[in-house]
Amino acid sequence: MGLNAEWMQRDLEVLWHPCTQMKDHERLPVIPIRRGQGVWLEDFEGKRYLDAVSSWWVNVFGHANPRINQRIKDQIDQLEHVILAGFTHQPVVELSERLVRLTPAGLDRVFYADNGSSGIEVALKMSYHYWLNCGQPAKKRFVTLTNSYHGETVAAMSVGDVSLFTETYKSLLLDTLKVPSPDCYLRAAGESWEAHSRAMFEHMERTLEQHHHEVAAVIVEPLIQGAGGMRMYHPVYLKLLREACDRYAVHLIHDEIAVGFGRTGSMFACEQAGITPDFLVLSKALTGGYLPMAAVLTTDKVYQAFYDDYSTLRAFLHSHTYTGNPLACTAALATLDIFEQDKVIEANKALAARMASATAHLVEHPHVAEVRQTGMALAIEMVQDRSSRAPYPWQERRGLKVYQHALARGAMLRPLGNVVYFLPPYVITPEEIDFLAEVASEGIDIATRDAVSVAVGNLYPHHRDPG
Ligand SMILES: *Cc1c(COP(=O)(O)O)cnc(C)c1O
Repeated sequence: MGLNAEWMQRDLEVLWHPCTQMKDHERLPVIPIRRGQGVWLEDFEGKRYLDAVSSWWVNVFGHANPRINQRIKDQIDQLEHVILAGFTHQPVVELSERLVRLTPAGLDRVFYADNGSSGIEVALKMSYHYWLNCGQPAKKRFVTLTNSYHGETVAAMSVGDVSLFTETYKSLLLDTLKVPSPDCYLRAAGESWEAHSRAMFEHMERTLEQHHHEVAAVIVEPLIQGAGGMRMYHPVYLKLLREACDRYAVHLIHDEIAVGFGRTGSMFACEQAGITPDFLVLSKALTGGYLPMAAVLTTDKVYQAFYDDYSTLRAFLHSHTYTGNPLACTAALATLDIFEQDKVIEANKALAARMASATAHLVEHPHVAEVRQTGMALAIEMVQDRSSRAPYPWQERRGLKVYQHALARGAMLRPLGNVVYFLPPYVITPEEIDFLAEVASEGIDIATRDAVSVAVGNLYPHHRDPG
C-alpha cells in the first residue's frame, strides 16, 4: 500500500469530515497532504495540487509563508495563550489598534471570537442586546437576503438561505425576514449590474418600511454571496441599504468573513460603497489562513449602550474560550504587514485582469451561462443550456466531474454545485492562473459533454460541496 492509501485508510477509520457524505469516500479518495508551499499542496507521494480555493477561502499569502511562520515562531516562545477576560497582551492590543485604523471611520471597538460563525453570533446578539439596552425589546428580528450564507451554527444558519445547509434544520431556526437578493446573475438581458442592484433594492425598502419596528439588523454578504454560488452584485445596493438602515433605525451587519482582506479588489468590500456598517465581521483571511479567529468591529455608539455599572446588567457577557489567541493575533499582524509592505491591493489588479483574460474564451462556451468576476474572485456558471440558462439537476453532480478532472491534473478546484470558481491566494503567478483556466476549461468540457441522464428538479442549486 502506498503512503497516500495508508493515511487515507487510517483517516476513514476514525474521522468524520466536514460538509461530506462520508459514503462518497467509498469511491472518491481523501487526499492526505504532507506539506504546503506557496499556492501548492503536496501529498505523501509527491503529487502537487494548486490550491485554487485558498483552502476554503482563508489563505492569502501562500502555505508556509516564511514571513508569517517566523512571527508565529517568535510569539510561541513568548506567550501561546492567555485568558482575555481580565487580562490582555501585546498582539491583541496591536491588532485591535490596527483593525480600527484600517477599517472605515466609525468602527472603533473590536470584539473577538474564534471562528466565522461565532463572529456572526456575536454581531446578532450584540445588535439585539443593543436595542434591548435602549429600551426597544421589540426589535429582535433579522433581515437577510435570499441565497445568503453566514455560517453553520444555529443563529448563523437562521440568517442564511442556502437550502442545502438549512432545510434539514429549519424547525430549529429563528424566524427571519428574507428579501430577494440583488444577485446580478438574475438581471434581465442587457441590464447593467448597477441598474439591477438598484431595482432590487425596492424589496428591501418595502420590508424595512413595514417591519422596522421589529427589526434589529439587516445582515448581508457585501458584493459576493460566496457559498450561494459566488453570486455578485453592485456596490450601489450597499449604499442604498446604509441610507435605509439609518432612516429606519436598523443596524447594518456586514459579513466580510469571505470578502474582507482584498478579495473584492479593495481591502474591505464596504469601501466600494463608501459606507461604514454598524458591525463588520472578519475572519478567514484575517490570519492569512493560519489560525481560526474572528473579529467583530462596531461603533462607539453600540459600545456605549453596554457601558454602565455592573448592577444594571447591561454588559455583553458573551465569550469564547480562545478569544484573542496571541498566536492568531500574531498571524494576523504578520498578514497585515504583508498587505502594507507589498502593496498587495494594487498588485492584485494585474492578477485579477489575468484571471479575466485567461477565462475570456469560456464566455462563448455552449454550457456556460456567465463568467463573472469581482476582484480576486471569478466564477463560471455551468448550465444545461446557455440560452435558457436551464441549470443542471443537482443530482447529476457535474461540478464533481470538474473537481475530479482538476485533481488528476494537479489542481484543487472545488466547485459550488455547478459553479466553477477561482479564489486563489494572492501569491499565485500569471502562469499559474493560465494553468488553472486551462484545467477548468477541460473540466467543464468533460463535465458537460454527456447528455442529461436523469430528469429531476433542481432542489439544491448551490453549495459548498463539490457535487
Ligand atoms: C465561511 C463563512 C462563514 C462561516 O465561517 P466559519 O469560520 O466557517 O464558521 C460565515 N459567513 C461567510 C460569508 C462565510 O464565507
